[in-house]
Amino acid sequence: MKPIGKGKAKDIYLADNGDIIFEFTDRVTAFDGAKKAEYPHKGEVCCSLAAYWFKILEKEGVPTHFKEKIDSNRMRVANLKILPVEVIWRNYVAGSLWRRFEKSEIKLPEDTEAREGAPIPNGMLEFTTKFEAVDRPVSTNEIIYEGWMTEAELKYISEVTEKVNDIMFSRLLKKDIILADFKIEFGRTSNGEILLADEVGTPDGCRFWDRQAYIRGEFLSLDKDVFRKNKGDLSAAYLEIFKRITKD
Ligand code: 5GP
Repeated sequence: MKPIGKGKAKDIYLADNGDIIFEFTDRVTAFDGAKKAEYPHKGEVCCSLAAYWFKILEKEGVPTHFKEKIDSNRMRVANLKILPVEVIWRNYVAGSLWRRFEKSEIKLPEDTEAREGAPIPNGMLEFTTKFEAVDRPVSTNEIIYEGWMTEAELKYISEVTEKVNDIMFSRLLKKDIILADFKIEFGRTSNGEILLADEVGTPDGCRFWDRQAYIRGEFLSLDKDVFRKNKGDLSAAYLEIFKRITKD
């Protein structure tokens, strides 16, 4: 096994057979790396939840790069060429969408109230750059103009992202968790097939809100916003969301 890179939260290795091994560490970063820390159990929670969702999504017909969970914080995945664009699906107004709206940089989708936490009736799809210093929103025109993806590939990943949302949103709602938004990545195999890549359904890449608190008019975050907004102990929030998602 050879180390080939370090992500924000993961260490990446090349296995002898050409697969990739992800080691989920306890590192956490926010604001494009400006804020950093480590929290016990974070790596295990993200590895276990990513494996949990990859298995469900595969069963529901979403092709992913997941192969197996090796131990508490490592998984084996297929070696892909990661696409230079990340995909965000939003069900509620939050995070950078709200910030850009407040600065008049963006309009909210139709029938969406102008307040933080408002539902977006038909959801919203956004794309951001992956390999630039700062994740930057990009238009579908720029993606096609830059040759990052064909129009057909863009349509495909948009449809898959909506399907990933449908699957996760409805399962989480049954556990009284609101999936406010999430970000995912895709990669290409050597024969051109596009697979869901990196991680999915973890508190690093999703906004999870407690539904009972939301009904009372509060935002109880069970995700990385705890760290971004200094809302308490990240380990406790991550262990809580892990327990709630995986209990049947
Ligand atoms: P926002 O654009 O509102 O900051 O983030 C939208 C969603 O994308 C949130 O669920 C957030 O956690 C997720 N997100 C933002 N940046 C990253 C990133 O670098 N990696 C991952 N996996 N998710 C991200």
